[in-house]
Amino acid sequence: MRYKSTRNSELRQQASEVIVKGISEEGGLFLPESIPDISNTLDALAKLDYLSLAKRILSLYLSDFTEEEISHCVNAAYSGGKFEGDQPVTLKETGSSGAYMLELWHGPTCAFKDMALQLLPHLLTTALKKQNKAQKALILVATSGDTGKAALEGFKDVKDTEVIVFYPEDGVSPTQKLQMNTQEGNNVCVCAVKGNFDDTQTGIKTIFTDMEIKKLLDENGYFFSSANSINWGRLLPQIVYYIYSYLELYRTGKVKSFTDPVNFVVPTGNFGNILAAFFAKKMGLPVHKLICASNANNVLTDFISTGVYDKRREFYATASPSMDILISSNLERLIYMLSGEDSAVLSAWMNKLAEEGWYEVDGETMVRIKELFFGDFCSDEETTRVIQKTYHNYEYLPDTHTAVAIGVYDKYLEKTDDQIPTVIASTASPYKFARHVLGALTDDLPQDEFEIISRLEELTHEQPQKQIAALKGKKEHFDMVIEREEMPAFVKKQLAGMKGKA
Ligand SMILES: *Cc1c(COP(=O)(O)O)cnc(C)c1O
Repeated sequence: MRYKSTRNSELRQQASEVIVKGISEEGGLFLPESIPDISNTLDALAKLDYLSLAKRILSLYLSDFTEEEISHCVNAAYSGGKFEGDQPVTLKETGSSGAYMLELWHGPTCAFKDMALQLLPHLLTTALKKQNKAQKALILVATSGDTGKAALEGFKDVKDTEVIVFYPEDGVSPTQKLQMNTQEGNNVCVCAVKGNFDDTQTGIKTIFTDMEIKKLLDENGYFFSSANSINWGRLLPQIVYYIYSYLELYRTGKVKSFTDPVNFVVPTGNFGNILAAFFAKKMGLPVHKLICASNANNVLTDFISTGVYDKRREFYATASPSMDILISSNLERLIYMLSGEDSAVLSAWMNKLAEEGWYEVDGETMVRIKELFFGDFCSDEETTRVIQKTYHNYEYLPDTHTAVAIGVYDKYLEKTDDQIPTVIASTASPYKFARHVLGALTDDLPQDEFEIISRLEELTHEQPQKQIAALKGKKEHFDMVIEREEMPAFVKKQLAGMKGKA
């Protein structure tokens, strides 16, 4: 299995090259040249536990990795108590008709990003070894909160890597900020940037193309890599849990035969997590609809209904900050795959988006999108009501992002009356967004973040994860706040510091 680029269909690269590079030289995103079919093997896959399933699925895509290498990576990522519970993910019936919560947040940072970012560092270091690269990876991360912490935790003290995380100063929750600023490790660095997530992401793109920084990197024996969800090594691990959830429904008799379909509902920002669900469907998993849930930054909802992607709109800082995104990078992969895999056509749309802020796909592509997807959104008021309702009716406490997904599923049911089993991606622990979650249940909101966490515990009798409780009193190592324009200078300064470490 080799990989091509969305902006160069002729290109062929090995999996290890694709993971090391993150993004293709001409600016495109990597995609496998073909998609393996698992529809005839579901019976055998249903006998596997999560780790064995992950190894099996990864091996279909990582052809230049040996079985031992894949096995080592998967074990290092998911075993040894890093994830709470018997398996790394948990599927829970919520009591509402045929809806199942796929909890993806039992890892070290309490958000679904751990599922990929616990694995990526091992895939990356294995890939580096394969390529006999003597260079070290400098990983730059732009985060709306959860990716940053998950990347820090995944890469901390990993040999031959350095991580710099930039987050929008006012675009993350207090707990997310504390999680990042208290990060320990010898190869990590965190910095706040004035502006929103898209500003931070744009700042990183500028650094990637800065010739002076490139030269500095070379001189110091580093190269840039990305831990953002444009890296194929982030998407691939996410395909596994959609397949797992289907097999779990089969094992518990909720799905009777391997032709019975399910729906997936995914709270979406960068279009990474839902793209993984799309891949699971393309691999032959029986999936009816992919339900794309957005918050007030509903650029994807509009796109799915009109075929026009238009980011020229007001940006809202919402209660679900990890979805406060107007440029959903991974949509590029979907559009490429659904519009005939023509890199010239795709490049023209992406250039138009970069230059004019919008593009419109053709009618045929639109027909395919509508067949596959349903899109809708929830405002913050609706999200708050969903948290109340879900807790009171089903004793299930969703975080704000998961609540957006539940709210959009309700809208889907109203419009379609679809009865088939539906898996809702539960993407973060409610304690990560405790202020908003408690605020939905009571008017009496304490000032102090830890007071809020204990109040939530008293009220719900649900324990906060020990990593979140342990943040109290932890030393903050980072407090820098810079302008977006200062990001390149910041990286240069960090590079100067790394030189001495070698
Ligand atoms: C990142 C994130 C999302 C959005 O996922 P994408 O892959 O960017 O679409 C949703 N919920 C939470 C909690 C997240 O951290």
